Amino acid sequence: MALSVLIVSCGAGRSKAGGNNNDTMTDISGQEAASRVPEFSADSAFLYLKRQVEFGPRVPGSEAHVRTADWLCGELQRHGAEVREQKAELTAFDGTVLKCRNIFGSFNSEKKERLLLLAHYDTRPWADKDPDPANHGKPIDGANDGASGVAVLLETARVIGEWNPGQGIDILFVDCEDYGDEGDEDSWALGADYFARNPIYPGYRPEKAILLDMVGAREARFPAEYFSREAAPELDDAFRAAAAAAGYGSMFPLVMGGGVTDDHQKLIEQGIPAIDIIDYRDTGFCPQWHTMADNIDNIDPAVLKAVGQSLVHYLYTVNN
Ligand SMILES: [Zn+2]
Repeated sequence: MALSVLIVSCGAGRSKAGGNNNDTMTDISGQEAASRVPEFSADSAFLYLKRQVEFGPRVPGSEAHVRTADWLCGELQRHGAEVREQKAELTAFDGTVLKCRNIFGSFNSEKKERLLLLAHYDTRPWADKDPDPANHGKPIDGANDGASGVAVLLETARVIGEWNPGQGIDILFVDCEDYGDEGDEDSWALGADYFARNPIYPGYRPEKAILLDMVGAREARFPAEYFSREAAPELDDAFRAAAAAAGYGSMFPLVMGGGVTDDHQKLIEQGIPAIDIIDYRDTGFCPQWHTMADNIDNIDPAVLKAVGQSLVHYLYTVNN
């Protein structure tokens, strides 16, 4: 993803949803709710992340990309999802034709109302933000940018497969997000754009969507993302309240971060309320962003846990 616009980070207001003061969250938490929220395993999520990195950089067109997509289908199936795949040939900004594969798994597919959870699994072909110019043409591991969001959603799929929350949930591993050109906003999120404009089955349209991106780096924090707040303030509030109820409110403050060019925008453009849970600091993206340092050494399983447990809390309380 790329930074879209710099939004001055004042004036967003703070609410009780932004704090980590759990006892203000009685509307969704409380003993009863907490007791039916399953445990999200940080170890399991970390192994899912490691496995992706071991495939190699998941650059569209590479063998590692093909093997990863096949593996994602298998994992979703193993956890009981009904799996569909959307294939397309998409032309990148530089004329390269990308063989896009969007991998999609449905839980409780008989339910008409659908919540879509998504993360991109492709990785950037170029470490063009690396401090060493000699690395600018090399592909990144994408341990954070790519693998982290997928890892959290795979562990979430495992949880859903084990303790069915009962509602319609779809998990999308979306392709061709990170093959973009800095100066061209339309060159990013090609897989999500295709997905948003071409229903994966006739009539498919989720009620709302939650995107996870860069959810594993050390010292991560997740302020509000500008376009998410514009398009889906209620969903963003509900997610932050769930995070606070799960004990992670301080990592999800209701202050404005940046505006980010990312997959969620493609859904918003089609009128679907969508939010982007993305690590954003006072200095912008995390220092490893689009560098060779986006590797497994800079992943903190506790961050995967914070995001994953918050999501699971949302799924088993707010969205029920
Ligand atoms: Zn990226």
